[in-house]
Amino acid sequence: MKVPAVFFTRSLAKLLIGLVVLSIAAVSRLYGEERPNILLILADDLGYGDVGFNGSEDIVTPELDRLAKEGTVFSSAYAVHPFCGPSRMALLTGRYPHAIGVPYNLPSYSSGRHRDKGVPTAEVLLSSVLKNAGYATGLMGKWHLGHAPEFHPNQRGFDEFYGFLGGGILYFGPYQAQNEEGTVWDYRVYPEYNGVSDKTLGKDDYMTDILSDKGVEFIRKQSKSDAPFFLFMSYNAPHTLLAAKQDDLDRFPALEGKRKIYAAMVYALDRGVGRLVDALEETKELENTLIVFFSDNGGRLDQGASNGELRGAKGDVQEGGFRTPMFMHWPEGIERRQIIDTPVSALDLFPSFARIANAELAENEILDGVDILPLLRGEPSEADDRAIFAARHRMVHTEVSGRNDRWKLIWESEEGPWRLYDLETDISEQHDLSDVYPAQVSALLDDIGSWLSEHIEPLWFYSEEEAEAWAREDMPKYEEMLSGDSDASEVAH
Ligand code: CA
Repeated sequence: MKVPAVFFTRSLAKLLIGLVVLSIAAVSRLYGEERPNILLILADDLGYGDVGFNGSEDIVTPELDRLAKEGTVFSSAYAVHPFCGPSRMALLTGRYPHAIGVPYNLPSYSSGRHRDKGVPTAEVLLSSVLKNAGYATGLMGKWHLGHAPEFHPNQRGFDEFYGFLGGGILYFGPYQAQNEEGTVWDYRVYPEYNGVSDKTLGKDDYMTDILSDKGVEFIRKQSKSDAPFFLFMSYNAPHTLLAAKQDDLDRFPALEGKRKIYAAMVYALDRGVGRLVDALEETKELENTLIVFFSDNGGRLDQGASNGELRGAKGDVQEGGFRTPMFMHWPEGIERRQIIDTPVSALDLFPSFARIANAELAENEILDGVDILPLLRGEPSEADDRAIFAARHRMVHTEVSGRNDRWKLIWESEEGPWRLYDLETDISEQHDLSDVYPAQVSALLDDIGSWLSEHIEPLWFYSEEEAEAWAREDMPKYEEMLSGDSDASEVAH
């Protein structure tokens, strides 16, 4: 399918909040004759320290390490939110979840509160933008953006979807159909292909392998077409409930308990990536495929993960909550760089992918990320001077952080206060420098204040308890945080 070589330059419209607006402007081609395929591999709850290329000494990930070595590793890559749903919603909308009302996971099937909820259809997803630009689009794995028919992946820009709509699935069956009351546990429901339950799986089929199989099929099929493809491998590994194949467990004789199972699960994902790469090589698509690897949030230390030197874990706005392993690999398209330390965000994937796809964006499209491809060419990028934010609502308080360059300002408990860390010299966030660098505190606090001011009320809450607490406690308590103190510690709970 021929697509007009429309190309957009970025007009950095700071609005009130420093959002970036992309506008269509000129015609050009930066990246060669053929637009690349895009393979986005997203791990689920993978810790920063749990891949070889980030220094893991016990978990081996040879396939990921090879791609990382041949490509470019980003040492400071951030998921947009420290847990699953909002992180994925942000990745595909290109918006901070709080700005569009989706900072909570969707309620589970069994709650009965999930049915009418999902990422608003007014939000144009990355998948739709790429599909409209002539890409064949596929999603294999976890969705978590809405259960109702209007929110289904096939209605949101994905030609092909094999996977599950909720927050997870069991790695081994048996699965079963949802009942009329909708009370079958999300993880137990059959995976589906384009809306039809897949009842063919046997008891030894392993979900990570099944998803890899589907990805390989998609690559082989699309290689016969002239159109480029966007394949989103949305693995649920190594998210709980931990379960692994015996062969994979046997590769880690020195490990025990949850760490052993977790390691085997990461290894299975790595095996799958190897098979995807083999399929790309067989079909001669590898050279012109941009492969991006990311995790949707940090690892859970209570479930066998390690975030390396980072403090905190999944759910935290500390580094361990949302700084994740990341690399890019694209032999034909980008100059290989060993490692890039410039902070980047999963929000940056939308504008970067749209750019290389020569995709047309609506003039009023607001995207919170920036095109990071210039970093790969050693050129100046808007990523060089912008803050990356995170906010996590707990039951009766909110935790917030903002990072610009080496500096990170964080409010990480009910009581505060704001702490400042120099991540270049203190990656583990141990030494509060807020008294030493008041100007840095002030600058970041201004950025954070502007960002918070654009947040809207959540469209839903994961639990009734959270909904009640939000109203009762006058959440999200941003004013108290910005004024530097909080009475949250006095609140009975
Ligand atoms: Ca996750």
